[in-house]
Amino acid sequence: VTNARAEPKLLVDRLRARSWRMTVQRRTIAEVLSAPDIHLTAEQVFDRARSAVPEISRATVYNTLADLVSMGEVVEVQLVPGPTRYDPNAGTPHHHLVCERCGKIVDVHPEGLAALTLHPEDQGDCKIESIEVTFRGRCASCHE
Ligand SMILES: [Zn+2]
Ligand SMILES: [Zn+2]
Repeated sequence: VTNARAEPKLLVDRLRARSWRMTVQRRTIAEVLSAPDIHLTAEQVFDRARSAVPEISRATVYNTLADLVSMGEVVEVQLVPGPTRYDPNAGTPHHHLVCERCGKIVDVHPEGLAALTLHPEDQGDCKIESIEVTFRGRCASCHE
């Protein structure tokens, strides 16, 4: 894939720009979520945050994630079985490529979506507002 795309702004930078009140704990959570292709469960965020700030509580992590979701800075996604994943790549429209074996989730930008339509019978009177596409397969380290 060689087409140039604008690098999405990292969550921690977006939060700084909107002057979100940054405590050490909240900044740590934002930093855990500030990398490409992050789709962690709340428990995984908690584990990573705790390795940086051992005294951080599970409640702080859950409350902060809920705040970020209601601010629209993080999106909840359900792409693999199990708990909800938190996707900080909000504001940059993207879709997902999921490894069915190890559960790895990568952000992708499929082409041709703008031309994708439903048969009028399928669409009925529904006004389409968004399209979500999930590609599923086996990642490089899972196919032998
Ligand atoms: Zn895999
Ligand atoms: Zn994503």
